[in-house]
Amino acid sequence: MRLFVAIDLPWDLREPLTRLARGLPGGRWVSEANLHLTLRFVGEVPPHRAEEVDLALATLRSKRFALSLAGVGTQNRAGREVALWVGVERNAQLEHLQAKIETALHRAGLPAEKRRFLPHVMLARLDNTVEEKLAAYVQSNNLFRAGPVVIDAFTLFSSQLGKEASVYTAEVAYPLA
Ligand code: ATP
Ligand code: MG
Repeated sequence: MRLFVAIDLPWDLREPLTRLARGLPGGRWVSEANLHLTLRFVGEVPPHRAEEVDLALATLRSKRFALSLAGVGTQNRAGREVALWVGVERNAQLEHLQAKIETALHRAGLPAEKRRFLPHVMLARLDNTVEEKLAAYVQSNNLFRAGPVVIDAFTLFSSQLGKEASVYTAEVAYPLA
């Protein structure tokens, strides 16, 4: 199974995000159902490891918190803009939850994630966007803001990679106190 841990975004955040999904030729928008905030990518694991991951996440205790989204930005890879994302307002509780998940999964035997946690919601993959169009899009949506919305759970998802889009399935939701 290919697994990742994420926040399954509540409707109050999803709905405003779907309104951003226009006005950029060459953007492949993430479908409303697929919008999420990744906390930890697990990757391909055998069934016994998936069970250990579930167990580790189930014993984790953390508190619910408010989440706000703000701003848009792009991801650049090798000098090319490859993705468009929505940012997350600075959030110590979100970072705390992410750190707890990281520790729990490390204890469950997964190799440590070396990359820094940069919370975001991916909005679109960029294929053939024109630089000026992308700059204009970012500028006109930079004041985007949504929330605060209470996050009362985090979720273990499985991901089936597809040609057009991946299919994510919420396998287990872990409540926050
Ligand atoms: P595709 O890779 O075909 O575009 P996807 O990115 O939608 O599909 P996955 O690759 O299964 O689906 O990724 C699931 C989630 O985990 C996404 O939020 C993705 O950004 C994140 N992710 C994937 N690979 C990594 C990685 N190596 N490190 C950190 N996060 C990752
Ligand atoms: Mg991917």
